[in-house]
Amino acid sequence: MAEPIIVIEGLKKSFGKLEVLKGIDLTIRKGEVVVVIGPSGSGKSTLLRCINFLEQPTAGRVLFHGEEVGQRLVGGRLVPLPEKVLDQQRARMGMVFQRFNLFPHMTALENVIEAPVQVRRMPRAEAEELGLRLLRRVGLADKASQYPNFLSGGQQQRVAIARALAMEPDVMLFDEPTSALDPELVGEVLQVMQDLANDGMTMVVVTHEMGFAREVGDRVLFMDGGLIVEEGPPEQIFSEPRHPRTREFLSKVLH
Ligand code: ADP
Ligand code: MG
Repeated sequence: MAEPIIVIEGLKKSFGKLEVLKGIDLTIRKGEVVVVIGPSGSGKSTLLRCINFLEQPTAGRVLFHGEEVGQRLVGGRLVPLPEKVLDQQRARMGMVFQRFNLFPHMTALENVIEAPVQVRRMPRAEAEELGLRLLRRVGLADKASQYPNFLSGGQQQRVAIARALAMEPDVMLFDEPTSALDPELVGEVLQVMQDLANDGMTMVVVTHEMGFAREVGDRVLFMDGGLIVEEGPPEQIFSEPRHPRTREFLSKVLH
């Protein structure tokens, strides 16, 4: 079996009295594509956000390459990691959100090379070469000097993917990357994600695109009420779901 990239142990997260994650255990191995499905409010986004410490776990921990993300046990107490160390961990986890949040005053290429130049201190010429290669990879070589407002939603999301790839992450986290897109633009983004998966990228993908889950996922997790209710290979989850709540959810989303 491939090496674990992310190991999640007993992860819990509460917001005030609301317990959103109730104990998640999950190992994600190199090259694996894990698709997370489940109803709205089940904790999918919170799970992704705990992985890169955008949310601090209430209990349990997330290990990235064997190292706890965002905090460290010192003398029996959890102490936050210095911002710089956290940044280094986050830099190796690319995240793509529902909203593309590109910088509007920067061209597509400038958006992609911003982090390599600012964070990795890459020389500009080298960063531009990398940026162009990544824009080509997402099918947008001809849009390098275009501003986001002149790009379609699907094109903007592909730039956002290229931007995340520019830090050469070991894992890509996607949170409903096609949910804000017009239906005719969904396919081009899913295609880029499928290409990434075929290239061996380790990916965690929260999505309502069941076709993608079935075809590209190595493993599908069904979350409900802050727990992983069921997980398995896509064929099993979609053809013979074991848990009644999985069946009920799938009967609503598959038509
Ligand atoms: P999903 O992505 O599956 O729709 P979320 O992880 O976004 O679910 O949210 C799970 C629950 O946690 C929801 O009830 C949501 O309102 C709540 N929640 C998420 N983020 C916060 C927050 N920052 N503060 C308070 N409640 C939150
Ligand atoms: Mg969500």
